[in-house]
Amino acid sequence: MTNSDQELWTAVKERLRAEVGNDIFSSWFARMEVESIESDTVKLSVPTRFLKSWVQAHYAEKLLTCWQATRLPTSRIELTVRSAAIRTVIPKKPAETPVIRHETSKSGGGEIRISATPISAAHEALGGSPLDPRLTFDTFVVGRSNTLAHAAAKQVSQGRRGDPVMFNPLYIHAGVGLGKTHLLQSLAWAGNATSERKVLYLTAERFMYGFVAALRAQNALAFKEALRTIDVLVIDDLQFLQGKSTQVEFCHTLNALIDAGRQVVIAADRPPSDLESLDERVRSRLAGGLVVEMASLGEELRFEILKSRVAAARHHHPSFDVPMPVLMFIAKTVTHNGRDLEGALNRLLAHSKLTSQPITLEMAEREVRDLVRPQEPKRVKIEEIQRVVARQYNVSRADLLSSRRTANVVRPRQVAMYLAKTLTLRSLPEIGRRFGGRDHTTVLHAVRKIENLVNSDTALAEEIELLKRQLQE
Ligand code: ADP
Ligand code: MG
Repeated sequence: MTNSDQELWTAVKERLRAEVGNDIFSSWFARMEVESIESDTVKLSVPTRFLKSWVQAHYAEKLLTCWQATRLPTSRIELTVRSAAIRTVIPKKPAETPVIRHETSKSGGGEIRISATPISAAHEALGGSPLDPRLTFDTFVVGRSNTLAHAAAKQVSQGRRGDPVMFNPLYIHAGVGLGKTHLLQSLAWAGNATSERKVLYLTAERFMYGFVAALRAQNALAFKEALRTIDVLVIDDLQFLQGKSTQVEFCHTLNALIDAGRQVVIAADRPPSDLESLDERVRSRLAGGLVVEMASLGEELRFEILKSRVAAARHHHPSFDVPMPVLMFIAKTVTHNGRDLEGALNRLLAHSKLTSQPITLEMAEREVRDLVRPQEPKRVKIEEIQRVVARQYNVSRADLLSSRRTANVVRPRQVAMYLAKTLTLRSLPEIGRRFGGRDHTTVLHAVRKIENLVNSDTALAEEIELLKRQLQE
């Protein structure tokens, strides 16, 4: 591509960004590249099939007009996928990509929504975890932090049996209370609403104790038969999957489903690479589809969630009225976590029911005081802890991982292990591994040691506070 082509592309991108806004631009166009510009055709590429079909379905015209605005005689845009790194079975269809269906696929009559009972009955018969009827796409509020995850989940829920699977597995990760379960259950509800497909939603625990046992009790043929009936396997909280044999079974299931062109959807509290207890091959298979992170809920999204919650609550409690300033107050102060938002509203609701008094700002401040957090601790990485601690104590990171036992290295090492235990979700054996392959008892010893010291040694206590703050900034 020539320099002037590059400039042209930059101009087009700026125009696009201005037209669709920053959020949409970065969700859908940030990774788009120009492959070539020929007489009247511009060839663009994106890294995934999903992005391609999404852009085609929603932004094809906008894209074209933005190019035409450059006064190039562009009449056609061709969109391709840069790397074909997806290992799913792609049916032999003509080169064109599938179209994204919009909203409800009309199944014959004008039916809108199947009632909850038959779906969940079918679901439970398959051994799935129970679904909460409140957790649907209708009640899921979309905002900056979850646009991509929502779009991907929606897309999966609308697939049909035999459709090419566009990204497999779909892997969604986010911290606690940011909507993973809500999104996955929405997908399961919506997916099961069309009778032709079976979406099975399982928590990792359920998978461990139920599914695996059931599969084991049957013979290999029955196993394959059972798999054939599932079109979409959804597993929530994968970080809880434990035990070697369960993992072997899981890996087996994962491979079998993906190879059979079935969709797998997974949620966890961390990216695949951080699922340290899982086998390297499983991790890379998990990372091989579409990995999407949902970030903290921004204030705007929190506000929207609260509004929709209040509206829902008013169906049952028509007198429940939360003034705008109170909603804004909660959205501003109860940060990051959807569960706390729910908790805050429940308290207001209880209060208004029990006292029949109107909800005021003063009352809200009192009721939700303990839910107000300055900041949800951010996810800290062990490498980061080692780096910061090493810098603080003027040793190298290699020293921390080494077997050296001189005092100037031992203390910082213990501090770093202590911080790893308190600031991350890692287990003692995992932390041991990350500190040069130490035993978990060594880590435990270090953690206890520092815990004891901070009670008596105020200088150390302050030092550790300072480190924590640095790490969580
Ligand atoms: P996770 O599984 O990630 O821990 P959940 O899905 O259980 O989180 O969400 C926690 C609470 O926050 C639930 O009540 C959920 O309905 C609500 N919530 C989270 N994100 C959203 C959203 N985008 N729209 C509506 N409610 C949400
Ligand atoms: Mg959850």
